Amino acid sequence: MMNKKILVVEDERSIADTLIYTLEKEGFDPTRVPTISGAREAIGSSEFAAIILDVGLPDGNGFEFCKELRRNSNTPVIFLTARNDEIDKVVGLEIGGDDYVTKPFSPREVTARLNAILRRVSAPRKSSLGAGFQVDTEKRRITFNDVSLKLSRYEYGILELLLNRPGQVYSRQQIMEHVWETPDMSLERTVDTHVKTIRSKLKDIEPKDEILITHRGIGYSVKD
Ligand code: CA
Repeated sequence: MMNKKILVVEDERSIADTLIYTLEKEGFDPTRVPTISGAREAIGSSEFAAIILDVGLPDGNGFEFCKELRRNSNTPVIFLTARNDEIDKVVGLEIGGDDYVTKPFSPREVTARLNAILRRVSAPRKSSLGAGFQVDTEKRRITFNDVSLKLSRYEYGILELLLNRPGQVYSRQQIMEHVWETPDMSLERTVDTHVKTIRSKLKDIEPKDEILITHRGIGYSVKD
């Protein structure tokens, strides 16, 4: 059964109340904490399907907390942001948020986004891809020749995409559109950087094998 536990980190009582009410009505099992320290504690003792995270919290900043979280967790994070100009940061590379809603928002908007994210991460698929890869989409883990790869979230996203269709060449833009929540042309170079890192991680395991292929001026593929 799908984990329906949602952590709501929000210090404004009225907003938290509305969210909890809506989430319960939608069949979720929400837990509410008003602070980052409360969130740390909750995450330490329970596994959540997703986290709804306010940015301005009494004991710190939601962005910073998300970065901290991303060091060892892929749990989807939806930000509650007060200002439009925070949005770029939210889904930017360094924060690792999955989505956002801008205050004031309707509770329906939050649950719609939540459902969309949960649909995306559910549907576990373990597949064997011939070239020694195994992808566990639920845990967002990829093993190569039985070695578990230590991948950042973007590295995982890129490799998972390429492994879906070995031999198929994906352009940087296609990769961005699939992997980044807000694809931005100016970030295309970061695809190269991530691919480089993935390649060196694969080389650590199979130094002689050219698994990730660069198609100059076109894009990338994995060997089929
Ligand atoms: Ca707040």
